[in-house]
Amino acid sequence: MAAKIGLAEGGGGEATARLIKEVFWSQFKNPELLKGNDAAVLDWGPGKLAVTTDSFVVTPWQFSGGDIGRLAVAGTVNDLTMMGAEPKALTVSFIIEEGFEEDSLKQVTRSMAETAVEAGVSIVAGDTKVVGRGAADGIFINTTGIGQLRAEIDLSGDKAQPGDVVMITGTIGDHGGAVLLARGELGISAQLVSDVAPLNRILLPLVGNFNNGIHVMRDPTRGGLAVTLNEIARQSKVSIRLDETQIPILPEVQGITELLGLDPLYLANEGKAIIIARPELAPDIIERLSREKLGAKAAIIGVVGLENPGLVSIRSQSGGERILPMGSGELLPRIC
Ligand code: MG
Repeated sequence: MAAKIGLAEGGGGEATARLIKEVFWSQFKNPELLKGNDAAVLDWGPGKLAVTTDSFVVTPWQFSGGDIGRLAVAGTVNDLTMMGAEPKALTVSFIIEEGFEEDSLKQVTRSMAETAVEAGVSIVAGDTKVVGRGAADGIFINTTGIGQLRAEIDLSGDKAQPGDVVMITGTIGDHGGAVLLARGELGISAQLVSDVAPLNRILLPLVGNFNNGIHVMRDPTRGGLAVTLNEIARQSKVSIRLDETQIPILPEVQGITELLGLDPLYLANEGKAIIIARPELAPDIIERLSREKLGAKAAIIGVVGLENPGLVSIRSQSGGERILPMGSGELLPRIC
């Protein structure tokens, strides 16, 4: 029978020590973690520090294109990246339900380790708790990320300016669609892969290059493009007008959302970024992004205006214009 995680694995004794060594240290090996101290101590050069934290509760814990482990690392790396910060270190905290299979835990940690290598970041500290059956659902992960950025970098959601253009680094709704399919409740099958990926390697060079011309970067995760743009419009006290014909959407995502009466503009993304920048930089930014696999479908999708501060609107294929509201909340629970 497959080994399962029991309460003893979270008890702090021999079983915990074995789990840490065999499952976590074997994947996340780096000198600071292996010291096994109460906190990792990092060398820190000049510049500013960025810090972010996230909890991941996605169900099911694996889906086409990734799993909760890849999501946890990429999501945290991306939040640092959106501030222009180079990810330096992650911490990871597991909450595991008694009975979760040890092989599944190994798969999650392997996937975290691979994604960390892809992003060039180390997992330097961690914690594990095991709770009784029914007190959690399989596995939950919390990650904290620490990043470093040059003193002059100042990206922020309140910095969009009238005249700026709005860009997206690729197709929208892939992650939300892939998780929906993985739940298997729809009775439909489609080929759709989550976009979950760390974006630091394609976006940080842009920040370095176009220093003061990029005003906002944000990843449209939960709530999708529509909710994230509403947040930015409110923070910056500007309006945002989108052109529906320019927004890249895979036919599979279009199909699923039409079938379910959902709007792809509100579906989660886990490997995409919104970039708001001065208009003269946009062609160059798009050109550089399109050379990269993760930015191949990058596009200019809208403009920032001054009228109706806080309002996001979209012009459809037929030329009609409608308001994209903030919405009342999450379309799909436990998407990330
Ligand atoms: Mg974010």
